[in-house]
Amino acid sequence: MQKTIEKNVKTYMNYINGKWVASTTNEEIGSINPANKNEIVGYVQSSSKEDLDAAVSGAKQAQKTWRKLSGAQRGDYLYKVASIMETRLEEIAETMTKEMGKTFQEAKGETARGVAILRYYAGEGMRKIGDVIPATDNEALMFTTRVPLGVVGVISPWNFPVAIPIWKMAPALIYGNTVVLKPATETAVTAVKVIECFDKAGIPDGVVNMVTGQGSIIGQGIAEHPDINGITFTGSNTVGKMVGQGALARGAKYQLEMGGKNPVIVANDADLDLAVEGTISGGLRSTGQKCTATSRVIVQSNVYDEFKEKLLEKVSEIKVGYGMEEETWMGPCSSESQLNTVLSYIQKGKDEGATLLYGGERQSEEGTEHGFYVKPTVFEDINSEMTIAQEEIFGPVLALIKVDTIEEALELANDVEFGLSASIYTKNISSMFSFINEMEAGLVRVNAETAGVELQAPFGGMKQSSSHSREQGQAAIEFFTSIKTVFVKP
Ligand code: NAD
Repeated sequence: MQKTIEKNVKTYMNYINGKWVASTTNEEIGSINPANKNEIVGYVQSSSKEDLDAAVSGAKQAQKTWRKLSGAQRGDYLYKVASIMETRLEEIAETMTKEMGKTFQEAKGETARGVAILRYYAGEGMRKIGDVIPATDNEALMFTTRVPLGVVGVISPWNFPVAIPIWKMAPALIYGNTVVLKPATETAVTAVKVIECFDKAGIPDGVVNMVTGQGSIIGQGIAEHPDINGITFTGSNTVGKMVGQGALARGAKYQLEMGGKNPVIVANDADLDLAVEGTISGGLRSTGQKCTATSRVIVQSNVYDEFKEKLLEKVSEIKVGYGMEEETWMGPCSSESQLNTVLSYIQKGKDEGATLLYGGERQSEEGTEHGFYVKPTVFEDINSEMTIAQEEIFGPVLALIKVDTIEEALELANDVEFGLSASIYTKNISSMFSFINEMEAGLVRVNAETAGVELQAPFGGMKQSSSHSREQGQAAIEFFTSIKTVFVKP
């Protein structure tokens, strides 16, 4: 949305080479509160390719010095950023809630996670980054070391506007790369607040840059930029594939984390209360707008009716509302287009013969009329050909599927093009191991919801969910560095 009316709303700048600067376009984009479409949270720069060039050039120059610092020295900067972010945690979380709708509680949790990720990677700066590999020649020394890629482009989505940019930027930086961030336009004000923490920490000019704007200009510009050596992307499959092609065409390293259609299997012997709790939390928290969100609930027939009854009872208790209100459990969809996408999938579900058990429409309580609210929605009588059983909805919609056996459950669970996260609720050890061995997903979880991630562990998916590299933890070093094998004959 271009700036037209709101004069009292703050305008935020790009961060290029250590300075807050306006775009060369003189155009701005408004960020709307999805709980109240009449409220503009802030304006950000609608940037041009020239702005991106300036950021990349600053990053390229800065990398020459940044890479020469020790890991511990780079880590010190990240520790400082973490401490500053911690003091601004509530302010950043409130901006997030206002920009994309997740509850303040969840937004605080995500910001705290951002702080933890920064500290984790600050510590990684002290870890060994190579191995001695004895040469067959006794008078030679052979070892490996790792070198940074150079300038890394970070393209991030709106659904985790603090955690995702940080879990990409922190490892990029600790291993000696410099960064150009292009945050999602919908949550660019939150990104500005994150970058302010780097600025306040005194990160050297050009080491971190942020350019806001349209994905088709700045995102694509990053994918195609000859001086960007690595691209880390999280977002939709459609865009991810374009980014991958752009990077591939010029031989740049790339990493894509994309969609999911994550199943939970509830076995006959499951702790049903735990399974209900995990299904609701995994499927409906953040209004179902997580790549790891549960969307298919595959339940064995002996417990199907009891599970369904318990699930519907809990779903009916969910309080939908503005994320800044304490009693709210589920906020609005993040934007009008997201709401319309969710409503159109609900319609497809009805048209294709699924039975609607709960929700299936906009929330219409008083106070929600200006927001993009939808009721939590549950369908049953689903078959694998239905659109809502196959495509990522990215909204609070659960599809219940009844099966007789664990084998059948696994077959259905794998019958999608995605493979990000999956879970099973069971007490039976052989069902657990069938699931662990057969499930085609990068994250498999037993008696735990699909949407859960520990920051020290590798994160990523199989099939269409990911380019198969891993993020987070020590796995990040594989993407953000190149390995050098050194042979020394004195
Ligand atoms: P999106 O693909 O629309 O946008 C992601 C980013 O790409 C944004 O910054 C956007 O501006 C940019 N972009 C848009 N067009 C571009 C182009 N032509 N070239 C380059 N960049 C472009 O995704 P979204 O709607 O922001 O996020 C939701 C999606 O992200 C869902 O599919 C979700 O599953 C996925 N996601 C995946 C993970 C994961 O780790 N697998 C995590 C979170 C979200």
